[in-house]
Amino acid sequence: MGCLGNNKNADRYDERRRMVEEQIKNRGIHDERIIQAMIEVPRHRFVDQGQQVYAYDDRPLPIGYGQTISQPYIVAFMIEALIPAPSHRVLEIGTGSGYAAAVLSRVVAEVYTIETVKPLFETAKKRLKELEYTNVHLLCGDGTKGWPEAAPFDGILVSAGAPLVPKSLVDQLAPGGRLVIPVGGRINQSLLRITRGADGELVQEELAMVRFVPLVGEEGW
Ligand code: SAH
Repeated sequence: MGCLGNNKNADRYDERRRMVEEQIKNRGIHDERIIQAMIEVPRHRFVDQGQQVYAYDDRPLPIGYGQTISQPYIVAFMIEALIPAPSHRVLEIGTGSGYAAAVLSRVVAEVYTIETVKPLFETAKKRLKELEYTNVHLLCGDGTKGWPEAAPFDGILVSAGAPLVPKSLVDQLAPGGRLVIPVGGRINQSLLRITRGADGELVQEELAMVRFVPLVGEEGW
């Protein structure tokens, strides 16, 4: 018997390489650090046993409580839209499975992530600890209010669809910081990037049409 602990294939490494070639690189994601992070993070460990066979497919998957883990490409696309740097501190709203937070944690210095559904928060917290993503900080609560004690952030990523841009999140952006957020209807949204300039002025860009579960809460649905 070989040593399983040293065998990358034992943790479905080849499937992740293929996922990254076919779904990520082929669609124009170029940031080498995001690509490495997606090869590294074991997506199958972020879904229930029954979903693990589909973990490297090109689609979102159910994670319970009516919520989903996003399609791998969307995770890569949104992180790239933040234009992340190794020194950055990033806030994510909608921890869900914890997968996007884990990928982000390989690309920036510190990740702060908020989930409103208690059991999802508990599972994500346990999982991220087991997998030793020690630079991810989790909170259970309404993410539309942000995380004032940890603000300001170089990037804020919202993994659920909002009716309007929450003012609290814009207020927690550092100068030069970027907020990436789906905004629109309950089913379809436009993915926006809002950048705070060095002088505090805000610039808004529309990046793509997307489909996210609703962002619920005081500044959400
Ligand atoms: N990033 C996740 C996918 C999350 S799906 C992953 O990689 O698995 C969106 C998540 O946002 C859901 O888990 C939902 O419960 C959560 N959510 C919705 N409104 C929220 C709010 N106001 N604050 C925090 N989380 C919220």
